[in-house]
Amino acid sequence: MKQKFLYHCNECGTEYDPRHIQYVCPACTALNSENQPPKGVLKTVYDFDKIAKTKTFQQLKDREFIDLLPIEDIESLPNLRTGKTPLYEIDQLDGKYLNYTCYLKDDSQNPTFSFKDRASAVVSAYAAENNIDTIVTASTGNAGSSLAGICAAQNQKAIIMVPSTAPLAKLTQIVMYGATIVPVQGTYDDAFDLSVKATDQLGWYNRNTAYNPLTIEGKKTVSYELFDQLGAKVPDRVFVPVGDGVIISGVYKGFEDLLMLGLIEQMPTIVAVQAKGSDNIARNFGKKEFKLKASNTVADSISVDIPRNYHMAVGYLKKYNGETLTISDDAILDASKILSKNTGLFAEPAAATAFGGLLHYQNNNKLNDKSKNVVLLTGSGLKDLKAVQQIIEIPEAIEPTIDHLKKLLA
Ligand SMILES: *Cc1c(COP(=O)(O)O)cnc(C)c1O
Repeated sequence: MKQKFLYHCNECGTEYDPRHIQYVCPACTALNSENQPPKGVLKTVYDFDKIAKTKTFQQLKDREFIDLLPIEDIESLPNLRTGKTPLYEIDQLDGKYLNYTCYLKDDSQNPTFSFKDRASAVVSAYAAENNIDTIVTASTGNAGSSLAGICAAQNQKAIIMVPSTAPLAKLTQIVMYGATIVPVQGTYDDAFDLSVKATDQLGWYNRNTAYNPLTIEGKKTVSYELFDQLGAKVPDRVFVPVGDGVIISGVYKGFEDLLMLGLIEQMPTIVAVQAKGSDNIARNFGKKEFKLKASNTVADSISVDIPRNYHMAVGYLKKYNGETLTISDDAILDASKILSKNTGLFAEPAAATAFGGLLHYQNNNKLNDKSKNVVLLTGSGLKDLKAVQQIIEIPEAIEPTIDHLKKLLA
């Protein structure tokens, strides 16, 4: 393999040179049909044998895993700390000791407060190395606010196409970071199609999830970090919130890379957690035919109709015996509150969904004593304050007297 990396089509396996094909497999894309998840997402492969022979894990880590990323130079990455997020262990919830081990990977501590920065950083670095200065993305909110922030740090232009219904905080971030915001009438899918047309006709580089294969490469670094933070071990389970299925594919890809490098022998069990109101992966998993159900959930970041990376996510889940689970909006909001008041970590509804998945397993005695379980907290609760207003109450102001204080506390 002369080049640092190549692409393999997830469906037909055709190999592509990244100098010729940047996005999806042309042959498979031509066969896509309406209301079905698109085929032809590309998987990035490296010369794992060579890397395994020449580098230790520590050496890979010291160079920001650049050997396993589709970029040449660490300097191309934004000068913002991206990834390297904390992993917290908690041992009690609501005063009860847990009879399993629970770790929380807090990816709300990324520059723009979501997991999406891992992907934006790599896409932006690739653009910098290839003299591209304008990047477009369609987004439900976080991918757009992330690209906007990363591009601000990199002196690049970001053009963000979002459905106008995205949460206010995410829209505000996009504008504050100085990106060009393009609110689109219609759904995320409409924004997606417009961004692809703009890429074809106006030449902008496209970051769309499950379109640009490099987003998966950025997202996979979370698994390298988990392996490192757990003392060169894999966890038993990782609970991942799932919408389009790119984060979960990134998590799988990261662990699979470690497998290819001979650093681990076994994959963890990945649990794909979806909202009951947006369950197009969980509900169709294992079925012959994909049947679309329109989405409706409080967790906007995982509210998707056609999961863009359905085939890759389902392929990984099958190959490595992954599990799927759905929880209701009430359970999501409950999980959000339980998480916040027990840990000091306030997560947006999509991220709380993963924690709700862990609680569901706990309450159904599916977590054995010695198991190590990781929950991916993918975004900050401050990004969507409206979602939780229905479960909180902020009392009216009182006269500042002890009597009134006592009444309030009663
Ligand atoms: C994007 C996102 C997800 C879901 O990721 P997919 O790749 O769409 O499955 C989960 N949580 C948050 C906070 C996100 O922004």
